[in-house]
Amino acid sequence: MKDVATSHLPSRRRFLQLGSAALLMPFSQGQTVAAKPSLLLPGSDGYRQACTLFNSRLKPKPAAVKSCLTEDDVISGIKWARENKKTISIKSGGHCFEGYCMADDSLSLDLSNMNAMSLDAASNVFTVAPGAKLRQINDFLLAKGRVLPAGSCAGVGIGGLTLGGGYGLLSRQYGLTCDQLVGIRMIDAEGNVHECEGEHPLLKACRGGGNGNFGVITQFRFRTQKAPTNLYHRRFKTSDLTPAKVKNLLETWFTATKELPRDAFSAFVLNGKSLTILLTHTDLKSQARITALMKPLEKLVTTTTRYHAPLYPAAIKTYYGRSGPLPFKNACAGMLEGFDELKDIAEALAQQVAATSGVIWQCNTLGGAIQDPAHAAASVFAHRACGYMAEIQGYWDDPAREARVVNAVDAIQTLLAQHGIKRHYCNYPDRNFANPQNAYFGAVDFLQTIKRRYDPADLFHHPQGIRV
Ligand SMILES: Cc1cc2nc3c(=O)[nH]c(=O)nc-3n(C[C@H](O)[C@H](O)[C@H](O)COP(=O)(O)OP(=O)(O)OC[C@H]3O[C@@H](n4cnc5c(N)ncnc54)[C@H](O)[C@@H]3O)c2cc1C
Repeated sequence: MKDVATSHLPSRRRFLQLGSAALLMPFSQGQTVAAKPSLLLPGSDGYRQACTLFNSRLKPKPAAVKSCLTEDDVISGIKWARENKKTISIKSGGHCFEGYCMADDSLSLDLSNMNAMSLDAASNVFTVAPGAKLRQINDFLLAKGRVLPAGSCAGVGIGGLTLGGGYGLLSRQYGLTCDQLVGIRMIDAEGNVHECEGEHPLLKACRGGGNGNFGVITQFRFRTQKAPTNLYHRRFKTSDLTPAKVKNLLETWFTATKELPRDAFSAFVLNGKSLTILLTHTDLKSQARITALMKPLEKLVTTTTRYHAPLYPAAIKTYYGRSGPLPFKNACAGMLEGFDELKDIAEALAQQVAATSGVIWQCNTLGGAIQDPAHAAASVFAHRACGYMAEIQGYWDDPAREARVVNAVDAIQTLLAQHGIKRHYCNYPDRNFANPQNAYFGAVDFLQTIKRRYDPADLFHHPQGIRV
């Protein structure tokens, strides 16, 4: 366990010391040279552009946006916020569903240009700055035959993804992104830099509870895995569904996926009256077992695609998603243990999804290595017992449809909450969740202790974060 505090905000000498520490950070690739540190106030050139988030439904109004390139820039931002009595929000990739990286009237520290990365050839430990995007990380690591288990969308920032958990196609095999974390650097509310590894409590808190709560994480160090050679994938499709058929398909999917091998992932995607079931895996040896498990589903759908087995680096690009900004209303729709939690509302849910075009309900497999006791003990990621995570998504092209779609999403969330679905993934936030601390986090008392130690005055104020 190691925690070295190297700097303190009020001392000018400390500022200078940190400056040289920042210059020595062991990064070798990816630093953006063209970007410049800046502090943008409302009305200044570039302010509106700096406030653009991936979700263009959000119109944030921060007191200022400070673009940071080094730890020094972060520390001077913290000083500015304290002098101007502003809270701080932190932006890495800017993909937060609710824009908590850029809270109204806060100073938003924009780390999106801090994206340097390196791989230690001997240990295969990957060091990366918070603003690196998943596409950049994949390009960098896969070229070296390594992979970091993470999410699938290209533009998501490693900062926010990791601090809240981070799940994707390889999570059942290796655990969440936060489970790969072996070290961090964090700057606290006083400007102290903490270097943590081993069993350090701050590192544990940042595995699932670190989004905008305790300080600014300026560096992550991850163990990496050997990259898979292929991604085997196939889809099952059917349309013109009735609510009763959806219920039957859902129960069959939950039964089939309960026993999936660890290298497999599946998603049940209900879009209006159409259903797509996605299935992937990385080990050819799993194919026979998975095919047997999926047999009952095959009988219920109209189309089953043949297996495709592209090379992994090419295959994951097909999951990179649309590039933004684009407007949407997405949120977690429950961390679930199984079909039982949905059986009384499956038909009503299907009916509500079908009633408004642009609304999608999706359920993804978790479980596998995510449930390993060692990962659970070393992190605060809550609800590991849940082998599934559901999400609700609402999209529109015509701005006139926004209210209709958002209302439909909200109504589905109300239905779910009324039926006891109250456990949620903090990286898929919804500002309407009641009691967000309990909905998102395990070990709330422990997280409050960490908050009191590093940010007792709530300088890093997250609208749904840890309260002291
Ligand atoms: C299109 C899309 C696809 C997604 N796909 C996946 C997926 O496959 N798997 C998955 O698990 N999630 C996925 N997500 C959710 C994603 O994990 C979260 O939105 C995540 O918070 C994004 O991180 P970010 O750095 O891009 O966002 P930001 O908006 O920059 O930050 C998100 C939160 O983290 C905090 N934060 C960010 N950086 C730091 C830092 N350096 N120090 C302290 N706090 C920080 C912010 O304050 C904010 O509260 C997806 C989201 C979108 C929009």
